[in-house]
Amino acid sequence: MVTSGRECEVLVVGAGPVGLMLAGELRLAGVEVMVVDRLSGPTSESRASTLHARTMELLDNRGLLDRFGALPNDVMGHLSGIPLSLDLDTPYPGQWKVPQSRTEAILGAWAGDLGAHVQRGCELVGLTERAGVVEAAVTGPAGTATVRAGYVVGCDGEDSTVRRLAGIDFPGHGTRRRMIRADVTGIDIPNRRFQRLPAGLAIAARSADGVTRVMVHVFGRSDTGREEPPGFADVCADWHAVTGEDISGGTPVWVNAFGDACRLAARYRKGRVLLAGDAAHRQMPVGGQALNLGLHDAVNLGWKLAAVVRGRAPEHLLQTYHDERHAVGVRVLTGIDAQATLLLGGPEVEPLREVLAELSAYEPARRHLAATISGLDVRYGTAGDDQSLLGARLPPVTLRTAAGPTTSAQLLRDGRGLLLIPGSEPDRLARLRRAARAWRTCVRVVVAEATPALPDPVLVRPDGHVAWTAPEGTTGLTDALERWFGPPSSDHLTKGTTMNRLAGKTALVTGASRGIGRAIAVRLAAEGALVAVHYSTRAEAAGEVVETIEKDGGRAFAVRAELGVPGDVHELFLALEEGLKERTGETRLDILVNNAGQMGGVAPEETTSEQFDRLVAVNAKAPFFIIQRAARNLVAGGRIINISSGLTRFANPSEIAYAMTKGAVEQLSLHFAKHLAPRGITVNSVAPGITRNGNPVFDIPEAVEQMAQLSAFQRVGEPEDVADVVAFLASPDSRWVTGAFLDATGGTLLG
Ligand code: NAP
Repeated sequence: MVTSGRECEVLVVGAGPVGLMLAGELRLAGVEVMVVDRLSGPTSESRASTLHARTMELLDNRGLLDRFGALPNDVMGHLSGIPLSLDLDTPYPGQWKVPQSRTEAILGAWAGDLGAHVQRGCELVGLTERAGVVEAAVTGPAGTATVRAGYVVGCDGEDSTVRRLAGIDFPGHGTRRRMIRADVTGIDIPNRRFQRLPAGLAIAARSADGVTRVMVHVFGRSDTGREEPPGFADVCADWHAVTGEDISGGTPVWVNAFGDACRLAARYRKGRVLLAGDAAHRQMPVGGQALNLGLHDAVNLGWKLAAVVRGRAPEHLLQTYHDERHAVGVRVLTGIDAQATLLLGGPEVEPLREVLAELSAYEPARRHLAATISGLDVRYGTAGDDQSLLGARLPPVTLRTAAGPTTSAQLLRDGRGLLLIPGSEPDRLARLRRAARAWRTCVRVVVAEATPALPDPVLVRPDGHVAWTAPEGTTGLTDALERWFGPPSSDHLTKGTTMNRLAGKTALVTGASRGIGRAIAVRLAAEGALVAVHYSTRAEAAGEVVETIEKDGGRAFAVRAELGVPGDVHELFLALEEGLKERTGETRLDILVNNAGQMGGVAPEETTSEQFDRLVAVNAKAPFFIIQRAARNLVAGGRIINISSGLTRFANPSEIAYAMTKGAVEQLSLHFAKHLAPRGITVNSVAPGITRNGNPVFDIPEAVEQMAQLSAFQRVGEPEDVADVVAFLASPDSRWVTGAFLDATGGTLLG
């Protein structure tokens, strides 16, 4: 039931396989999606029942193949009845048979598990785009209601209401000839596979349950403009005219017709309305390509629409959906139109059929035709020579990484992009990693052993197509990343709405010369705070942080103090107050981040009393006295954030003493939160997991891969991942959070 005034980021109209695939893709990226369908229940009709090789690969990329179980498969396909082997370089050559109802059930369950809501018995009756939203009038069991959506996608079939309401042209030609078909019981006729008889074409296939499917076309018959369904009497008459057999004694289970209409939407996108599947293209269901074409539309669109909805990528990324899929539509529909002519044409097409049969016996011609039918030859964009993978699908490949063997399909499961680096030399590896760093949330970086199947690094889009590759160097990588995944993440920050949340505030970040502290200082400054960049020994590194902040238009100054030694806090505040006074005329402090810390890395048996005392002094005692002293400077609404560690939640015996000090840090937050709450000051702990901090261990790909396995997101943390969390706790938005422990470990050891 649709309730009045519902809002969603994307409204998908049509809960067939294409709509459900799209809903799943959008949910993978966290987009709020609603699916509506006119029908009150899923289809039980066995319409499209062929999955081709590329569709099987895409289903594997999402981990869905297991749900289909073992499917009947035939590597022999056909071109309008001319036998054609579909054997190609793919794990899934040929045609895979599965009833549409089953495909729909599996995709529906997947999208549902990911959180998509399907509302059935709800029909779209109106569509208006205004001021950044589309208002969709939907009639359901409870009457008509308005759904406000950021985008609406029509996956509602060849008679698409979305297409009509959006006023999108659908040029092409209507039905000229058609085949009529019926499922019949109680008849006993020979099976016929595309039998061309003098009067027409006849196909008969008896299934194990005794039902015979017959399909027939009388050569020379014009069906122009005929849309009404045939009756069983029509089937019997045509069957008799073509084969001479009488099937009128049988009982029809199902009768229908399909014609050779061929139409392609002029635009796959008009403003905030998009089309996918049969809503965008109508074609004769010959060769079983239609459903596959629609599913490929959905996989091309899902990640792009998600990136635009999430504000990560600019609107024009959606134009590439039209450009890429419309071009594929033109090509596939041309092929289908040709097949329809070859299939339904009378004796006049026989010479053409013979020439084609001869041609398709030549291996290059066979491969070419098979790749077109299987959807494996799609190559987006025009750049790149034929040898390069650019624009083509990444052929499924088995890889060996530090974490063990894997496949390219497994690496694409979470719907993110993939920078796959086969055994690169260290310098280049470091450069590639650095280049991709600002896209770390949407592109996964995986290093694998070199393999002849994949000699060069590739950037793969979430739909499995290659967006960048280069035999050497990194040229063009950041351009490709920006083109397909939006601007680098630091740009989001400076261009985003969070800018200036901390304008006029002052902050002290201890241990800000490198690692997590550095990222916190940069982030708080980007939000407008004047930041004191504390360090102990590395004056040059602290100076670089100040310089970076100033270059980006922020304000910062460095303060030195060794912590964990007598007089440490006094020295720190002397420098801090001097710096603040010089720049603001007062010593007011709004934000304190206790980040400086040292790790142990010593086995429990070997930990000395001196080492233990040092860890306690730097990690626990210093933060206590810094808070005690900072309380004099902190104003109402002030923020204290103490950096703890995931090691207070999971065990690592060589860090017992360190973890004990971090446990103390969490106690510090809890009790000071109570103590300082009357002054409106919040105190919280943030616990990072393994975070790239410039330690040389992060330059060893095998080690990084191993550490990455601990996180639910299968990557190590970046300092910015933690800085973003700290920025929230430092902002006015966190006013209602105090005494809290925030896990920022990327789901480490979640189970
Ligand atoms: P890092 O790269 O090792 O940098 C440590 C920072 O603290 C440097 O700025 C350093 O200053 C300063 N520092 C260290 N000892 C000091 C002392 N005695 N007196 C004054 N300053 C001192 O650190 P990180 O890995 O980014 O870690 C930052 C915080 O996060 C720490 O509290 C750490 O325990 C916690 N954490 C880190 C991870 C991780 O995987 N990285 C995981 C969980 C928790 P100089 O540069 O001048 O030496």
